[in-house]
Amino acid sequence: MKHDDCLFCKIVAGDIPAAKVYEDEHVLAFMDISQVTTGHTLIIPKVHTKDIYDTPEDVASELFKRVPKIASAIKKAFNPAGINLLNNNEAPAGQSVFHLHIHLIPRYKDGDGFDLKWVTRNDEFTPEKLQELANSIKEAL
Ligand code: AMP
Ligand code: ZN
Repeated sequence: MKHDDCLFCKIVAGDIPAAKVYEDEHVLAFMDISQVTTGHTLIIPKVHTKDIYDTPEDVASELFKRVPKIASAIKKAFNPAGINLLNNNEAPAGQSVFHLHIHLIPRYKDGDGFDLKWVTRNDEFTPEKLQELANSIKEAL
């Protein structure tokens, strides 16, 4: 269902312009207005879901099903060195538009505009601790 106050629903409805890459009955892909790297593209479900938690399996399935096609087209068009997929959920994780979207961010070289910092803490997590964490998630499934 369209949400009147949602920017991406407005793009789906054609009320706000976007540089469209791909469209079918389930999804729309378009250029991110703030290009982190050249070719930075967003893919969204046409139906409004707020974030990954709010997304039914069939919507997630139809959305991700199209990602390889769009990623491959970006690779063919710009010949990047790599590509990152990113999905931000909730404001503390960087979500600013509350309609589910996956960023496709082609990568060119260090300092290309996108930076992902991983701080690994392997010494804190023994195999036993990892199993404990896994069990917590398993119980919540
Ligand atoms: P996020 O921060 O993960 O919620 O990403 C939202 C993205 O939407 C940002 O990268 C914005 O640059 C992008 N964005 C915001 N408004 C528009 C718009 N009108 N057309 C295309 N992309 C947009
Ligand atoms: Zn929406």
